[in-house]
Amino acid sequence: MEKRMSEKELLDSFEEALADNHIYVVYQPKINHASGRMVGAEALMRWRHPEYGTQYPSEFIPVLENNNLIYRADLYVFEQVCKLQRKCLNEDRHPVPISFNMSRYDIYNNNYVDEIEKIRTKYDVPVKYLRVEITESSAIGGMELILSVLDRLHELGYTVEMDDFGSGYSSLNVLKDLPVDIIKLDMRFLSGDIGGRGGTIISSIVQMTKWLNTPVIAEGVETIEQADYMKSIGCKYIQGYLYSKPISQEDFLEKLKETDHEPVGPAMDLISTMNAGKFWDPESLETLIFNNYVGGAAIFTYNKDGKAEILRINEKYIKEVGMNQTEADILGTDPWMCYDEDNKKIFIKTLERAIASHDEETCETWRHLYSDCCGDDTICVKSFVRMIGETEDQYIFYAMVQNITKEKNMYRELYDSERRFRFASEQANVYAWEYDISSKEMRPCFRCMRDLGLPPLVKNYPETAIEAGIFPPETADMYRDWMKKIDEGIGTIEGIIPLTVGRVPFHVRYTTEFDENGKPLKAFGSATLVVDGEGEK
Ligand code: C2E
Ligand code: CA
Ligand code: CA
Repeated sequence: MEKRMSEKELLDSFEEALADNHIYVVYQPKINHASGRMVGAEALMRWRHPEYGTQYPSEFIPVLENNNLIYRADLYVFEQVCKLQRKCLNEDRHPVPISFNMSRYDIYNNNYVDEIEKIRTKYDVPVKYLRVEITESSAIGGMELILSVLDRLHELGYTVEMDDFGSGYSSLNVLKDLPVDIIKLDMRFLSGDIGGRGGTIISSIVQMTKWLNTPVIAEGVETIEQADYMKSIGCKYIQGYLYSKPISQEDFLEKLKETDHEPVGPAMDLISTMNAGKFWDPESLETLIFNNYVGGAAIFTYNKDGKAEILRINEKYIKEVGMNQTEADILGTDPWMCYDEDNKKIFIKTLERAIASHDEETCETWRHLYSDCCGDDTICVKSFVRMIGETEDQYIFYAMVQNITKEKNMYRELYDSERRFRFASEQANVYAWEYDISSKEMRPCFRCMRDLGLPPLVKNYPETAIEAGIFPPETADMYRDWMKKIDEGIGTIEGIIPLTVGRVPFHVRYTTEFDENGKPLKAFGSATLVVDGEGEK
């Protein structure tokens, strides 16, 4: 007969339950969903009353907690786990690490850590085969207390797992202060819509924990879809009914025999210079730097299947390229939002280069945005991208962005005006060119380019033209003198020079353009064929 026992009945039969193994332990494997291998197991407490049948942890554990008995029950479970590991070691069975649950009430008990150490030593189990699961709620009793317990556990060599992460209580705040080694995310807290908002929450938690460089185990995974989804966002460790319900010790030993094992690996190798933990802390120096000193910057993931997602941006990113968007509009979108196919291709090619080179790569892309308030807008963005992390199916990128629309447009205008000028000369039957005084660059018209074989930009003018033989050698010094006079600010200068290979006389004339302070900027040169008689004038 199954019957739910009252609190009094539970308390009255507790001692007997411990003594007679009515309280016992079952084991649930933790599996790497990518390889199918076992990475560990969790020990879970069970209570089967000889008369009333199975009692549920959700009911009897709170009773034990409220009556200061959980401590004894947890130590009992721990001892069973140590016994099992010793048995495995004795029988050469290659154990996997087994986790045990530490109630938050255990931490109020000062000698809890001493007691488990006593038991561990008694069975001589290497600490690497034992893991502690704590819950976020352990922090309720005060950070100091839990931190001192964690310190001691770490000193002794225990790996600590954060159980039920995301269930409560300002998870990320707790996480950044608690030095845990593995995070367990319970799918049941987010059941139903892993494609929708729940999925976004899970994936951002997984992303953030990757930044903390902490492996994640997904718990309560019941379907292959959930497991595949978790794997796709970089969380490949799974505990749940999909692989196995909690099973008896014998069944567990059987499973241990037939399944390969492997250790839990780190979530991602990050570049060592960046302190990932501090990166998410709004008050850290890293965040300050991210927000203030690096210009527009973004962090995004790029999946090996081609999908991408912006995880983090700083304020300057919005200023540079956000146009009229807000942070909320941008987070979660892909970094090529607003790109057309060609620009998207350019961007992705740059990412691929950065993956191959492990170095910074840059590209310039145009993005187009429309909003009701501001209408259409097109901007050109220069991106400097660098791959900063990699998992099995995902890369993490750091990108700095610069809005270079103004420079681009200036260049375009310049290009257009040059085109106009070059076409005009063609029409007017003159040779024309522009001489830039400070850079000594000369830009010839189409006719010059065609008839004199000049490139669109002639550097180190007039020496290059003299060398090329466009002027007769005896006029070279005179011509150099003209240039000097132009440099010094002469308004116009002109004369007859026999030009080109045929030494045909040309009327060459310069007009100088000045800036508002009277400094000479450019000189516009022209050459027209000397008509009969002009030479003698
Ligand atoms: P928990 O530590 O989060 O343990 C995982 C619970 O999820 C277990 O419930 C397990 O049977 C259940 N579970 C695992 N995979 C799935 C799944 O795919 N679907 C569903 N629906 N459930 C799944 P259980 O054994 O009933 O334990 C409940 C809670 O009782 C545990 O939650 C833990 O907080 C507590 N508990 C269990 N054993 C101990 C113990 O030895 N000491 C302490 N202090 N607490 C324990
Ligand atoms: Ca647990
Ligand atoms: Ca859990």
